[in-house]
Amino acid sequence: MTIFKKIIDREIPADIVFEDDQCLAFRDISPQAPTHILVIPKKEISAVDALSEEDEALVGHIFLVIRKIAKDEGLSNGFRVVTNNGLLAGQTVPHLHFHLLGGRPLNWPPG
Ligand code: 5GP
Repeated sequence: MTIFKKIIDREIPADIVFEDDQCLAFRDISPQAPTHILVIPKKEISAVDALSEEDEALVGHIFLVIRKIAKDEGLSNGFRVVTNNGLLAGQTVPHLHFHLLGGRPLNWPPG
């Protein structure tokens, strides 16, 4: 079981900013920007690689939740959504998650 599943199940605490039947959003424990929120599906999907056709609506829903949270966080000047997939990309938790970053200028290309 991943640490994110434990957060979903309330086995470990997190600063939760949004929840519905399909997803959960909470502040990253090691924030890389003034706003750094992780949005995750409640369904256990390990990574983008593991998505299937049946997850199409779920991923679309998550992006609408991200849009809402960005608005609530006041990120009207811009924000970034990042998903790391696999070892080379630096994915450390094998539960699909979308990083919502904002509140400072964000460089491009990323590291
Ligand atoms: P990844 O490197 O897999 O793309 O992102 C995993 C993220 O999860 C990292 O930014 C890391 O700081 C965050 N993280 C890891 N463990 C915890 C935790 O227990 N609680 C919270 N809130 N964030 C975590």
